[in-house]
Amino acid sequence: MAELSPALKQATPVVAARGEGVYIYDDDDRRFLDFTAGIGVTSTGHCHPKVVAAAQEQVATLIHGQYTTVMHKPLLRLTERLGEVLPEGIDRLFYVNSGSEAVEAALRLARQATGRQNAVVFQGSFHGRTMGAASLTTSGVKIRAGIGPLVPGVVVSPFPYAYRLGLSEEEAVAYALRELDYQFATVTSPKDTAAVFIEPVLGEGGYVPVPDAFLQGLRERADQHGFLLIADEVQTGFGRTGTFWGHEPSGIRPDIVITAKGLASGFPLSAIAAPNAIMEKAWPGSQGGTYGGNAVSCAAALATLDVIQEEGLVENAARQGERLQQGLAKIAEAHPAIGDVRGRGLMRANEFVTPDGSPDGAAALRVQQAAAQNGLLLLTCGPAGNVVRFIPALVVNADQVDTALELWAASVEEAI
Ligand code: PMP
Repeated sequence: MAELSPALKQATPVVAARGEGVYIYDDDDRRFLDFTAGIGVTSTGHCHPKVVAAAQEQVATLIHGQYTTVMHKPLLRLTERLGEVLPEGIDRLFYVNSGSEAVEAALRLARQATGRQNAVVFQGSFHGRTMGAASLTTSGVKIRAGIGPLVPGVVVSPFPYAYRLGLSEEEAVAYALRELDYQFATVTSPKDTAAVFIEPVLGEGGYVPVPDAFLQGLRERADQHGFLLIADEVQTGFGRTGTFWGHEPSGIRPDIVITAKGLASGFPLSAIAAPNAIMEKAWPGSQGGTYGGNAVSCAAALATLDVIQEEGLVENAARQGERLQQGLAKIAEAHPAIGDVRGRGLMRANEFVTPDGSPDGAAALRVQQAAAQNGLLLLTCGPAGNVVRFIPALVVNADQVDTALELWAASVEEAI
């Protein structure tokens, strides 16, 4: 009998039979409060009726309209609609299927557009598992181990992780910008640097929001040296952080925006967006792919945008995120093992530490497992697996947040 490969890692023992809103049900109809949202994907909740209806209608109309062969309406409409939510001037798009593919595409685009080779990422970065994306990923060595040689020309610079550095946010920003300038002075000449990739909230690397001043510092350097600033909004985009894009509060405009995950409520779709001045430097035919911009995924993305706007989900993410933060911080006060509670919108983190302040992955895992037993699905992240993250669907309401907090408090009590 065939079994699943041990190359996969299973976060919970749950076998999902169906999903509805923020709930997952197993075969015995046991209900779980899903605060994983399929790793931040099911933005409108599981099986939102409008997304289901749009996908069903599209399935019966045209499933695969291969967009470099024949164009199709859902993709044209989606391009128009994304133009309305993307930053001014970022108005040329193409589509692929996953975050990793989109990151790889952005790396190739940046190299073609600048004629330069190197890329800078920040320690703890997660940009994907395919070879090019893995070469940009430093959230944990498991993504890189044994697969080298990786794509050359990637430079890793420190991330302004104030809590772990033991610095104030301001000091952490000054430190990380100083180190970045040092990389430019010693490792990668700015003139050889095609792009800097940044997640507006460091995701798999530990759910650490990037301070606005850091993004502003990157923008200044990109303008000064002519490299591209690439916002990997795969996890932070589409309202997840309480603004439509994660980079928004900083006031900067990236050169390239990558979006995936929440974009189509669970259907595979990712998009790469940039101004024409960048896109026109791409070699014609160098981007695309057989399944890119699948018609059903595009229809689901259009419905997702409708639902986000009609139900005010960006505002809801900000509001419920604040409620979650306050509740989690209160629970952490009684538990010194939770050293830091942080995040933005509905990307919230609890960092577990030993009494001497070292990362405590074992404690995080115990609590995450206890929570699953208690009916609350959560994921861990961070290089040591010592951060438990809360990423509910953007439709989550105050009662559901409060129930999650109760289950969390009980699980921490039990497992610590
Ligand atoms: N970039 C970021 C910021 C991500 O969080 C992820 C997935 N966790 C990826 C890229 C890769 O996306 P995918 O798994 O769809 O390839």
